[in-house]
Amino acid sequence: MSPTTLPERRPAKVAGVALAASVPFFAFHVLALLGAVFLPFKWWYPLVALGLYYVRMFGVTAGYHRYFAHRSYKSGRVFQFLLAFLAETSAQKGVLWWAGHHRDHHRHSDQPEDIHSPVQRGLWWSHVGWILSSHYDATPEKNIRDFAKYPELRFLDKHHLLPPTLLGLLLVLIGGWPLLAWGLGVSTVLLWHGTFTINSLSHVLGSRRYPTTDDSRNNWVLALITMGEGWHNNHHHFAASARQGFYWWEIDMSYYVLRLLAALGLVWDLRQPTAKVLAEGRLPQPAPYAAPVAVR
Ligand SMILES: [Zn+2]
Ligand SMILES: [Zn+2]
Repeated sequence: MSPTTLPERRPAKVAGVALAASVPFFAFHVLALLGAVFLPFKWWYPLVALGLYYVRMFGVTAGYHRYFAHRSYKSGRVFQFLLAFLAETSAQKGVLWWAGHHRDHHRHSDQPEDIHSPVQRGLWWSHVGWILSSHYDATPEKNIRDFAKYPELRFLDKHHLLPPTLLGLLLVLIGGWPLLAWGLGVSTVLLWHGTFTINSLSHVLGSRRYPTTDDSRNNWVLALITMGEGWHNNHHHFAASARQGFYWWEIDMSYYVLRLLAALGLVWDLRQPTAKVLAEGRLPQPAPYAAPVAVR
């Protein structure tokens, strides 16, 4: 089997969590907790953790997701590299890996082939199980040829542990082990689970504005945690949009930052929901979603 064989075509029962490969993931949780509890504490450590959470969440949402997976706005080659680097400081694997798999999620959303559907495989699998499964280790290059043509992005994708390692070294140099425990440890654990709620809870909890062919939901709490990604039913209905909060009351912090970056000339051509999409969104809510039967 070649590394680029379609992993999503595997029947659900074949895919399982690789226990040995999961050890670093769980060990990181334990070390972050131990470090935060037992190392010397200063009041500003949690602020650094929170700041790095939101700065890197922007890398995940505006970078991995809205730019690399959906091309919902444009940018130059240098800023594109910086965005990929920032996204990878979140320790969520390579930029091509992330965006390539996400394109598959939209292609098969909540169908049996969806690699992280809570409807098909349960909440735990959608939240973290699929990431810890060795079946999805390879970058699905056929999905992401448009960005794989850039050697600097291929380098970052291959060496995806480099950005979080450099961030960790910087934190140690500035504030020693305690700052590492908060700035990289606690912050990254929260960032992981904040991001993962979009694959798990955003297909379970919330309201449905659009009758999409999946069970995606809009959820304002998840939108605050994820800088706008919680408007997930909006997103599944019109994924090309750079904004996921379609109306003024749907807070979408990533989009506000993108507007600021557009004003500075660093990004441009931010795509918007069409007038038709906005008008449809004002209609009464659609009927509940009925999941297709899983392949067994
Ligand atoms: Zn998406
Ligand atoms: Zn989704």
